[in-house]
This record gives sequence, C-alpha cells and structure tokens, in this order.
Amino acid sequence: MKLAIAPGDGIGKEVIPAALFVLDALGLDIEKIPLDIGYGKWERTGSALSDDDMDIIKGCDCILFGAITTPPDPGYKSVLMRLRKELDLYANIRPFVPLKKVTLPCAKEFDFVIIRENTEGMYSGVEELHENVAYTTRVITRKGSERIAETACRLAKERKKLTIVHKANVLKSDSFFRDVCMGVAKKNGISYNEMLVDSMAYDLVLHPQKYDVILTTNLFGDILSDVAAAVAGGLGLCPSANIGERYALFEPIHGSAPDIAGKGIANPIAAILSVKMMLEWAGWEKEAAMVMEAVNSALLDGITTPDLGGKYSTKDVSTAVATRISKGVD
Ligand code: ATP
Repeated sequence: MKLAIAPGDGIGKEVIPAALFVLDALGLDIEKIPLDIGYGKWERTGSALSDDDMDIIKGCDCILFGAITTPPDPGYKSVLMRLRKELDLYANIRPFVPLKKVTLPCAKEFDFVIIRENTEGMYSGVEELHENVAYTTRVITRKGSERIAETACRLAKERKKLTIVHKANVLKSDSFFRDVCMGVAKKNGISYNEMLVDSMAYDLVLHPQKYDVILTTNLFGDILSDVAAAVAGGLGLCPSANIGERYALFEPIHGSAPDIAGKGIANPIAAILSVKMMLEWAGWEKEAAMVMEAVNSALLDGITTPDLGGKYSTKDVSTAVATRISKGVD
C-alpha cells in the first residue's frame, strides 16, 4: 500500500508522527510518501496545496492527514475541501464509542457512527461575496444523496438502525435529501427513522445509546460530530475516514489546535484511531483490533495527556500504545 503522509499544521505535526510510530510497530508493508502541505507551505509559496502535491497524492492509495490552519487570505480555498472533491471522497464516516476510563459527561454506553455526504451541501464551494450581501448555494444532488445513502445502508446492515437527519420542514434541499435517502433505505430493506437536526443535537447529548447509524448532509454532519465528540469525552479521541471509490483519507476530527501546538501535549489517540480506520479499510482487520486494544490498555494504565487529566506527553502515549502492540497487547 502507498500512503501519503500530510501532517499539516499545529498539532497535526505532533499527532501524525505519533500515529506513525504506532503504525510502524505493526511492521506492515506500507510505502510512506511525506507531503508538506498547509499554512506553512502557503506562507513560503503562496499555495497551501500545489498541483504537484495533488499528483503525488493521486499516485498513492490513501492519505493520513493531520490538520491545516486556515491562512488569513480571503481568496484561500480549503485544502481539505479540495482533497475531498478532487479525490471524490464522498463518504465521511465518524464512529463514536466510549474508550476505557475516559470520563463521559452524559451516557456511559453508546456505539454509533455519523455518516455525512462529504462533497456537496453547504460545502459545494458555490459562493458569492459582495459588499452588502453574500451567498452560499447549498447543492444536494440525487447522485450524491443516493451514493451516501447506499453507504449508510451497508453500515446499517451491520449496525441495525438508520436515522436520517435533516431540516426538511424548512429547507427544500433537505426534503429532497430525505426523500432520496428514504427511497434507498426502502430499496435495501433497511428500517429507518428520521429526525430534525436541531432535535438530533439535543437528543444526541441526552440519549446517544439510541443511535446506530446517523446519516446526514455535509454541514449538519460536521456540527453533529463535534457534539458527538463531547459526548465521547473529547476531540482528542475521535477519528474519521473520508472514503471514495478509488481513494481514502484518514484524519482526526479535531483541527490544528493552535492553543496547544508545540507543547507536546496534544492527545494522539484520535490520530492513532484514524490509523486503525485506515487498517480496516485496507483489510488489516487483526492489526486494527490490536491498535484498539493497545489504546484501551494504555488508557486503563492511566497513560493520558492533560486533556484527559493526565500528565503524559503525546510521545509518551504513542510509545505506550506501540510498546503494547510490540508485546502483543495484554
Ligand atoms: P482549527 O482552527 O485548526 O480548527 P481550533 O483550535 O479552532 O483549530 P480544534 O483544533 O478542533 O479547533 O480545537 C478545539 C479545542 O480542542 C482547542 O482548545 C484544542 O486545544 C482542543 N483539542 C483539539 N484537539 C486536541 C487534541 N488532540 N488534544 C488535546 N486537545 C485538543
């Protein structure tokens, strides 16, 4: 497998090396291609992601991505949006499950996935900025809705219930999305319910155990994932996968966290579990299970960064996880 490594900016530069250290402990045959993209590159060259970078990425199977700080340039186009669109990474999949010994603010048991359409909706890039008015066009297509609903139905076959989340009572584009998704669920024989996004945000905090697969549009999924991260104990714990037919990109759901960057205290677990999702995608199921077990073992032994109340560094946590993998976890 050929893997592009794009740590990006801020804590991306800390958590991605930590996750690679864990990956290396598995001793798999993976060719790693380092990539320098993001704010730092923009400062040096005026471009955060060049066409040459894109060519290198297209020569790889998948990408391990950290985070990118947004440059202070009104004309700046998001690197992540470009990657998602050009590589057609249409399914954004974010699993949420309690990890060992992590303090949870509400429910203690849940296991759900948020799956969101990743290439259109409010992030379609159709925008106009004038002096006294600005427009963002929310594009929802039948093709985009059908294929994300098909992916959600495949997940719902393993995970039981499908919940379609929208704001169809107000937005025509959302009643279209809802109707297409319902049609796909019926065709696949998947039982589903529907929920308005505002009710969903409220209920996800109070009763996350009620949900298995949550299917929604781009912006709603983005926001609900941060709600879910709080339910699961913090942004430093939550991984994600961006999947298309040809390529995939794996990234922690958190950003570049400039407030803690450079201090060596960022929690690497979200990045390590993004590697776990990459292993599952590539068919290394046994290795993925080892990573999960090693993470939980390190947590049980209290080896945690300050966001979880611990005194350990990013490196300490990745070393603890890698050591457990090398020893065969116990
Ligand atoms: P960006 O502008 O890149 O999105 P941000 O700071 O606005 O960065 P996040 O990076 O998601 O957004 O961070 C939100 C908060 O969560 C910050 O206070 C940050 O320190 C904290 N945080 C995020 N990721 C981690 C992590 N891996 N470990 C510890 N704290 C984290």
